[in-house]
Amino acid sequence: MNIIRFLETVEAKPTGCPLRNVRRMLSEAELRPTKQRVALGWLLFAKGDRHVTPEMLHDEAQRAKLPVSLATIYNTLHQFTSAGILREIALDGSRTYFDTNVSEHHHAVMDNEIMIDIPPVELKNLPKIPEGYEIARVDVVLRLKKL
Ligand SMILES: [Zn+2]
Repeated sequence: MNIIRFLETVEAKPTGCPLRNVRRMLSEAELRPTKQRVALGWLLFAKGDRHVTPEMLHDEAQRAKLPVSLATIYNTLHQFTSAGILREIALDGSRTYFDTNVSEHHHAVMDNEIMIDIPPVELKNLPKIPEGYEIARVDVVLRLKKL
């Protein structure tokens, strides 16, 4: 499946996430649905599949008149990640994105700025891993630059 085709299927999926779904999502992830988690969860998940940085979410929270510090945003994003409802993607040493789509897929970054989803990539010839370990996850990031 090519990238454009994949994006069309992603965009065709219903997006939006009513508040009650956020509460249910938090309960299913065994996170107490505190006011703050519900509010941040709604900001995060109401817009469908996307990639956000803590700073982006902080800006959105401020625009929504939600009084929440950047430290609280970081904590909440990491709690959501540990609970499996968000996925963390470290792009480089200083930039981490959080992905609301936790299904299997990889990423492409255009012009070192815009992150998009791409279909799972088939990996061959993976190195032998140490005994007693298994591959928990593989992250592929294609870095695209304009010709
Ligand atoms: Zn993604």
